[in-house]
Amino acid sequence: MGRVYNFNPGPAALPLAVLEQAQQELLDYQGSGMSVMELSHRSKEYEAINNQANERVRRLLGLPADYKVLFLQGGASLQFAMVPLNFLHSGKTANYIMTGSWSEKALKEASVVGPTHEAASTASENYCRIPGNDELTLSDNPAYVHINSNNTIYGTQWHHVPAVGDVPLISDASSDILSRPLDVEKFALIYAGAQKNAGPSGVTLVMVRERLLADESKSVPAFLRYTTHAKADSLYNTPPTFAVYLLNLVLGWIEGQGGLAAIDEQNRAKANLIYSIIDEHSEFFRSPVQVESRSLMNIVFRLPTEELEQQFVKQATAARMVGLKGHRSVGGMRASIYNAVSLEACEALAGFMRQFLQANG
Ligand SMILES: *Cc1c(COP(=O)(O)O)cnc(C)c1O
Repeated sequence: MGRVYNFNPGPAALPLAVLEQAQQELLDYQGSGMSVMELSHRSKEYEAINNQANERVRRLLGLPADYKVLFLQGGASLQFAMVPLNFLHSGKTANYIMTGSWSEKALKEASVVGPTHEAASTASENYCRIPGNDELTLSDNPAYVHINSNNTIYGTQWHHVPAVGDVPLISDASSDILSRPLDVEKFALIYAGAQKNAGPSGVTLVMVRERLLADESKSVPAFLRYTTHAKADSLYNTPPTFAVYLLNLVLGWIEGQGGLAAIDEQNRAKANLIYSIIDEHSEFFRSPVQVESRSLMNIVFRLPTEELEQQFVKQATAARMVGLKGHRSVGGMRASIYNAVSLEACEALAGFMRQFLQANG
């Protein structure tokens, strides 16, 4: 039967070329006589993978020299805890900008550790938009400001960097990392679970400015401190070697596509295909998201009735387009069109949307 058009929100589609290379190398990685999974994490071969992944992240994002790249475990969810454990201390207050369910989870973890403050929130508008700079009110003595750069469930995305002055800005970029160029220097720390845009689940990409590390709490267990992993080049304990290997292949694939500017252009063309159908037929397709805040990664839309929505998902699945059901907390439809989802897949979805409209509109 072959492969489907995969619009899963995460874990999500991986580039076919990456899967094929992994398949080809599965039993004998570069003449080692074993799989990457069977290599020692202290071997020359694995060290080369770890280093190459690190260098590729630096190159793709144009990382300044004073940033560390870390490959951690525990997903973005562990970062929700690690960030406050390390940087919320000395009577300071953690500031969170609330743009969806993941912001709520991040804030909840911080509130276990110390004082928190909502610097802005669009909760009362059902998180349909990203707040502007004029809506931000920081607390006194802020430890940091935390944002979620793309809101996977609500389908919104930051298209500006919030103005927070000298306060360290921390971003959960799980669902849009490496999907577009990024002004890294505006952020003190960026983290992302790999399983949406960057690879399989099991590895979390962290980029952190050294100056922030100097402010790390001294009363956190070693494994939960960023400096522990920075000093060990992400080899403090056994890393998720196969996940880092796949991440490295995906990074190579992004380079082969022409880097982040080229990927961004592809992503805009893909998103535009779907959004333009929604806009042209707003009597049938409804976007709950304010236009300026639309996500290029997760396109959320509704149909006139829940019954039609169920039919849409069912018929799309029959046409080999999977993963289109919206998150259970918001309902409707969601097309997740991360880097590895091809223009062809988006064209197929756009064609299906037109067909469905003709039959039911
Ligand atoms: C998926 C997701 C998470 C949760 O990631 P885990 O790796 O499962 O912990 C957090 N934040 C955002 C924005 C996400 O999309």
